[in-house]
Amino acid sequence: MGDLRIVHPITVPSGRVPATDVVPALQGLVNAVVAAAEANGTRDGKSISCRKGCGACCRQLVPVSRTEGERLLALVKTLPGERRERLGERFAAAEAIIGQAGLADHAGRSDRELSLAYFALGIPCPFLDDESCSIHPDRPLVCREYLVTSPAELCAGPSQEGVTPVAVPKVSMAARGLQGESDDWFPLALLMKWGKTRPRSDRRRTGPEWVQSFLKNIAAK
Ligand code: SF4
Repeated sequence: MGDLRIVHPITVPSGRVPATDVVPALQGLVNAVVAAAEANGTRDGKSISCRKGCGACCRQLVPVSRTEGERLLALVKTLPGERRERLGERFAAAEAIIGQAGLADHAGRSDRELSLAYFALGIPCPFLDDESCSIHPDRPLVCREYLVTSPAELCAGPSQEGVTPVAVPKVSMAARGLQGESDDWFPLALLMKWGKTRPRSDRRRTGPEWVQSFLKNIAAK
């Protein structure tokens, strides 16, 4: 991938499974790409400034694919009732703010325009607890790809001026369209709203077939 050479073993179910079952394998693959990019990007002595307890970037728009959305909805269902309730309140609050700002529908806006308008709303990700990710091992692929070497305080600035992200290939985008749907995504903060109207599918393929599709999507993006 670009300057990076990634050698990474992938273990997936051999039987026919829903796409959500291969998400852990895709997370491992993205982790491997990020680790290689991090090693590459810090060769000149720069170090990653992202730290536990800094959740500035968790107020950005986090685009999530359908497959990841389904996996996250299943994860939320397994959480204790109290935590689910708290999450439900946070998602409802985020949904209201996004709706009032007219950002629930992202059609017709450039990515940059949408990202800045969203960030200006200052909505903390509903999964953010005490400025740390409460679902860190299960966080979306795109969250794994965001690392910076610039001072952490710059990430909280309204225009992100001076922020220096590590150049990480955006492998997460290959999860879009994995189930043959249109190449769509939604903001993570609208997960619950999306969950109520999401297109249903019982499509099953073998684990290796899902991974091959993902790899083909990487090449096509
Ligand atoms: S899922 Fe976790 S890492 Fe991603 S934006 Fe939310 S709190 Fe941050």
